[in-house]
Amino acid sequence: MPNTLPEPYRIKVVEPIQLIPPEARESALREAGYNLFSLKAEDIFIDLLTDSGTGAMSQEQWAAIMRGDESYAGARSYHRLKAAVEDIFGFKYFVPTHQGRAAENILSAVLVRPGNYIPSNMHFDTTDANIRARGGRPANLVIDEAYDPENPHPFKGNMDVAKLRAFIETIGVANIPFGMLTVTNNAGGGQPVSMENIRAVAGIYREYGIPFFIDAARYAENCYFIRQREHGYAQKSVKEIAREMFSLADGMTMSAKKDAIVNIGGLLCLNAESTFQHIRNELILREGFPTYGGLAGRDLDAMAVGLYEGLQEDYLAHRLGQTAFLAARLNEAGIPTIQPAGGHGVYINAGAILPHIPQHEFPAQSLAVELYRAGGIRGVEIGSVMFACLDPETNQWHYPKLELLRLAIPRRTYTHSHLSYVADILAEIKERAGQLRGYKYTYAPELLRHFTARFEPL
Ligand SMILES: *Cc1c(COP(=O)(O)O)cnc(C)c1O
Repeated sequence: MPNTLPEPYRIKVVEPIQLIPPEARESALREAGYNLFSLKAEDIFIDLLTDSGTGAMSQEQWAAIMRGDESYAGARSYHRLKAAVEDIFGFKYFVPTHQGRAAENILSAVLVRPGNYIPSNMHFDTTDANIRARGGRPANLVIDEAYDPENPHPFKGNMDVAKLRAFIETIGVANIPFGMLTVTNNAGGGQPVSMENIRAVAGIYREYGIPFFIDAARYAENCYFIRQREHGYAQKSVKEIAREMFSLADGMTMSAKKDAIVNIGGLLCLNAESTFQHIRNELILREGFPTYGGLAGRDLDAMAVGLYEGLQEDYLAHRLGQTAFLAARLNEAGIPTIQPAGGHGVYINAGAILPHIPQHEFPAQSLAVELYRAGGIRGVEIGSVMFACLDPETNQWHYPKLELLRLAIPRRTYTHSHLSYVADILAEIKERAGQLRGYKYTYAPELLRHFTARFEPL
């Protein structure tokens, strides 16, 4: 039963959005080369491109922004953030960074050497790229269930512990400077990791003396799923569950643009003093002095408040209720989504709706374009535009297993009526899905194609 509780907030400031007329949407698409990344935000009615930095801040966060202390060193804002970080995460040391990827860059610069391997359940793309940029090799060891869109496993983000042990035995401890776990697993559909699995993974890393870092972007959503789904946690607060989770790790990286509900910010925390000293030096080189780390004082204050708001249980119940609600509405209309609904978005199986469009004609891109055309709604293609790659040896294209359209839900931004509208538009598209056509490239760069490619309808 999807959660249909109303929003646990009322609206005090409004940001107008408008649905421009069909002809204007058609010409916006043409001008953008049918790439939704190239649309102007003002031409979009409901923007579900990402949940990163797109949430609404609260009155307390805006008030905190006015209290921001812009002193270069030792600002009050830093000390307020430090108190929140120590209280929630419990690590000995931390630095603020301007985003999650900055924390990943610094950690990789300090610890990754060419030829090293970094295991995780699934690395997020910036983590993957930061490890590779230092000559390292990311390894994804998530359980096999994660790759089956129908499988309703409650913790599809879990690491396969047998694979992890075998991996360490094969690669050798000397080649693994640290290990990771992403909570929730963004790249795998926002699926959570159970406490039992986190404990088992931590135990293996500790047994081999490998430092364990959590990619904590959506830790609060993960903790709420643990409370809902894992035996023994129903009576614990989300904050208690978070403390237990982080007590199992040696450090963490975090994009505060997710569960700290700010528009910009990140964190890098750890317990090892000597590594922290290297990190601080690297931070000064790349981000800023250790008490502001690439952010304004006011950003630190907004983060200090947002970290607590991201843990509030009525907020989390509503947020995870929103994704479950949208997924349930779509499923009722016969639109298949990755099961179960993840934390931050709904992943539509576009390949299953458009079986007549072959992968090399981009079915998920076709659905994404049609969703904008029909309703002014922007999602993001996670399929062959993003992931198909040309094997340089065989000159053959490799296509991803699934053609997905992700609808990410910004925090505290849209209401149930916005989501009902999205579901209605998709249901209407589904009825005439057989008429949708594929696309071909008119321009495609070699790397990170999806951001700047241009298309033409077939
Ligand atoms: C967003 C994200 C990052 C990167 O954070 P940015 O703030 O966008 O740099 C890293 N890991 C995960 C799991 C994320 O979702």
